[in-house]
Amino acid sequence: MNPCQAVPPPTTEPAPAATGVISSWDLSVGVDGPGTRFVVFTSGCPLRCLYCQNPETWHMRDGHPVTTEEVMTEIGNYRRFITVAGGGVTISGGEPLLQPRFTADLLHRCRDSGLHTALDTSGLLGERATDAMLADTDLVLLDIKSYSPATYRRVTGGPLQPTLRFARRLANLGRPTWIRFVLVPGLTDDPADIDGLARFVSGLGNVERVDVLPFHRMATGKYRRLGLPFPLADTPPPDEDLLARVHDQFHRHGVPTT
Ligand code: SF4
Repeated sequence: MNPCQAVPPPTTEPAPAATGVISSWDLSVGVDGPGTRFVVFTSGCPLRCLYCQNPETWHMRDGHPVTTEEVMTEIGNYRRFITVAGGGVTISGGEPLLQPRFTADLLHRCRDSGLHTALDTSGLLGERATDAMLADTDLVLLDIKSYSPATYRRVTGGPLQPTLRFARRLANLGRPTWIRFVLVPGLTDDPADIDGLARFVSGLGNVERVDVLPFHRMATGKYRRLGLPFPLADTPPPDEDLLARVHDQFHRHGVPTT
């Protein structure tokens, strides 16, 4: 080589954007993490929860492909709005861990650009979340739908153990976590199961709060439009007494609830 020849400066190519399939995105306040959230609903879920509010996300084939770069551009349009009150980006679904590369890349890009990140998951596919992905996740919203394996299977069609394993792993990694629990009268309200869940959660050490989410039937119209039966169409929402009892059960184990 001619020693006088100019050597071009080293270039760091940006990592190629990952492609995923999403159902939609939306803005929400208060329920999907702190502050105002830009929520990405990924497509595809291996569970079929009886009370699922997002049946349109169940199948990958019903979503549309998008790159993480395109999602970041969309997020950029709302950045000032979501950051002004300590909000951020939440990846939900569907089940985001069904598309681990896309989810990891999106979390990483958000974190890199200074946005608070949250991952909403059932934990069934927790083994697909790498430690690096979890390091890019400021908050995990972990849905534990029952502490009874039989009830969990009845509610979701899947096994409980992977979710509990994932919860313990998050605790070992010290990742801040909110547990989400949907209270359905006659289905998830067994006092012994709730005591078991409260004891389990209180022993983890990384759980900031449990969101007790009262079952409701607002998705009935969605099911009708999709031509799907809504299995809990005749189930009432929990009354005040039941809600108070369940909150109290968590509090007695020292677990804050909302
Ligand atoms: S895990 Fe979530 S998206 Fe999947 S079926 Fe259950 S409620 Fe619906």
